[in-house]
Amino acid sequence: MKTPALWSAQAHMPSIIDRQIRVVSAQGAYLTTDKGSRLFDGTSSLWYSNIGHGREEMAQVAYEQMRTLDAYHVFGRYTNDRAVELSEKLVDIAPMDNAKVILNSGGSDAIDVALKLARRYWNHIGRKTKTVIISREHSYHGLHAYGTSVAGLDFNREGYGTDSLVSGTERVEKHSTTAFAEAIERIGAENIAAYIAEPILGTGGVHPPQEGYFEEIQKMCRDNEILFIADEVITGFGRTGSMFASTRYGLQPDIVTFAKGVTSGYAALGGIFVAPRLWQPFFERNANAPIYRHGTTYSGHPVTAALALKNLEILEQESLIERSAHLEQVLSNSLSEIESHELVASTRVGGLLGAIELRDIAQAEVITDQLLDLGFISRPLRGNSVQISPPFISTDQEVRSLVEAVRYLLDDIQPARI
Ligand code: PLP
Repeated sequence: MKTPALWSAQAHMPSIIDRQIRVVSAQGAYLTTDKGSRLFDGTSSLWYSNIGHGREEMAQVAYEQMRTLDAYHVFGRYTNDRAVELSEKLVDIAPMDNAKVILNSGGSDAIDVALKLARRYWNHIGRKTKTVIISREHSYHGLHAYGTSVAGLDFNREGYGTDSLVSGTERVEKHSTTAFAEAIERIGAENIAAYIAEPILGTGGVHPPQEGYFEEIQKMCRDNEILFIADEVITGFGRTGSMFASTRYGLQPDIVTFAKGVTSGYAALGGIFVAPRLWQPFFERNANAPIYRHGTTYSGHPVTAALALKNLEILEQESLIERSAHLEQVLSNSLSEIESHELVASTRVGGLLGAIELRDIAQAEVITDQLLDLGFISRPLRGNSVQISPPFISTDQEVRSLVEAVRYLLDDIQPARI
């Protein structure tokens, strides 16, 4: 039997072999498949196509950058114009004062470099037992070994022979400050390096923070000398109607991870912002200053950096973050209309991130498959939820139509009763 050469991500291969969707081109908020279907990108691919697909000016920037400097690394003494320029721009818009930036190739990289830095920092200042990372149930922090170990989606940890690929990880209930307090008590603050959270739990089902939750968590972090890491891989660069969710929710993180929206997916780029107290020891003009041994071949790649710069310029010039805030309202209104549907358990929205949680009789997997026939891409999320996170350039009507399409399919499940 013929099987595809490409081993797809997070896929049960036998189930998808005969039903793969091959995307061949994209423009704005729409994708075209090899079968000629035109599909609305209702999830912004994996939460990242914020400025929309197929922008000529992005292609131009990549072309020109490749002709000037195709690639050069930022290890040791070396750097390049675009990496420097992008870092300066990022520091200007960072959700913390006087930040430094580390660049790499994506969200999972960013998680690795953030969690290692937390440990490296404590070790350097002599607090060598502070190594444990606390995260939340249902969180997702990518699939490198550290991200797999800290994330709150247990199925991603199954089958490796140990509970956690990287030792020293603990998960607490997602909106419980009591659970966090108990974990500190049990593990001991002297053993805890950092707490990491997505401001809005994304892949875990789109759960915005509860009122006062982060305020209390941050106080506990400060009181117990635990670093606070905001994973803004999804929420960064406008997805919540602010440049960063940390600003929207009043967070003061020590480290912020980012990826996706920094290039709107036009190139593979991730990174972290680092607060002064963490970077200062590494920048001291002193022969004994420590080295943080981070870095991947494509850290600071000039073409990805040029694309990030252009993406940030487009966000500003076209007021797309304001547009994202506006679409949050449109989405929120549409969701409140579907909320009373008898097959809807609840709806959630935080920024231009929404989820419709279905009652068991309707399966999110089935509904998202059927949505394709109506011309919409969505995704089932944890907890039988349908993901809605369209590009910022979507029209109001496109956002409403996606929610209406879900309603149409739900109505069809029990037509006699509706
Ligand atoms: N962190 C969060 C919150 C994410 O949602 C993701 C990816 O969806 C990651 C980290 C990992 O990013 P990447 O897939 O670019 O490695």
